[in-house]
Amino acid sequence: MKISLVVPCYNEQETVRIFYDETVKVLKEIGYDYEIIYINDGSKDNTLSELIKLYEDYPDEIKVIDFSRNFGKEAGMYAGLEHATGDYITVMDVDLQDPPQMLKEMIKGIEEEGYDIVGTRRVSRKGEPPIRSFFARQFYKLINRFIDVEIVDGARDFRLMKRKVVDSILSMKEKNRFSKGIFAWVGFKTKYLEYENVERVAGETSWSFYKLFLYALDGIIAFTTAPLQISTLLGVFVSLIAFLYMLFVFFKALLFGDPVAGYPSMIVIILFLGGIQLLAIGIIGTYLSKLYIEVKDRPIYLVENIYSKEAKK
Ligand code: UDP
Ligand code: MG
Repeated sequence: MKISLVVPCYNEQETVRIFYDETVKVLKEIGYDYEIIYINDGSKDNTLSELIKLYEDYPDEIKVIDFSRNFGKEAGMYAGLEHATGDYITVMDVDLQDPPQMLKEMIKGIEEEGYDIVGTRRVSRKGEPPIRSFFARQFYKLINRFIDVEIVDGARDFRLMKRKVVDSILSMKEKNRFSKGIFAWVGFKTKYLEYENVERVAGETSWSFYKLFLYALDGIIAFTTAPLQISTLLGVFVSLIAFLYMLFVFFKALLFGDPVAGYPSMIVIILFLGGIQLLAIGIIGTYLSKLYIEVKDRPIYLVENIYSKEAKK
């Protein structure tokens, strides 16, 4: 049996070696073969040279995929999964926020309890700004209301998967990759292990609130067309009200005459309708833009160089 760890890295010069040391301890205890696939996602610090040093120290265990620029964690995960050769495969954060100790229990879940995937889920969000946690919770509620599969609140990308699960994930070639959704969408027998949030060992998170917000929007757009339907319903609703109001105005004029007035109500209605129209066009535009990206069919990532035993030959 062989375990593959996929580890996307962006500006992580301090953590790549700590991650290796800590994780390999656990892997040695487990006793299976293993490989660690680091993806350098266009880091601007010395991550690449740290990774190359690490590769030179342990060429049998490590692969380094160096991207031509920053493509984002999703692309890093995809590249790593594509290059993974293990029977069991997982994605891990390089900052040790995914406790390597849990790997043992994950393997047990697959081998003894017959699961295809053993995932992990944070039950607390300590060390995170409260408003970020609040919005995260709301996001899970919102998206789960609209999509067919369930995205588990707090589920991490740290999940041990059998080969067949990874092959299914790789068969989803979409460019707008929202992996929380993709993981849920492929299905298979899944179990979640719960743990308390761990803060990163060094370095800083590269996710700003704004980036997370855009990511959440991407997720919704990628997995549901409900916003399009909602804007249609809103249109129907507003037209209905407009029709009733028209009747009201008509009969009022018939019965009571028409003194020239009504500028305020007029302007309110115009602004309201204009707002709704812009919103609906915006929603359509967002889907269209995603469609545009998919149709262009560009690669998910570009590689500058691969450092591995096989690549050297
Ligand atoms: N990461 C990446 N590309 C990016 C941003 C992040 O490969 O553009 C990696 C990062 O190095 C880390 C993982 O994705 O291994 C998770 O990032 P981070 O720890 O900053 O996020 P958080 O744990 O705070 O959600
Ligand atoms: Mg992290």
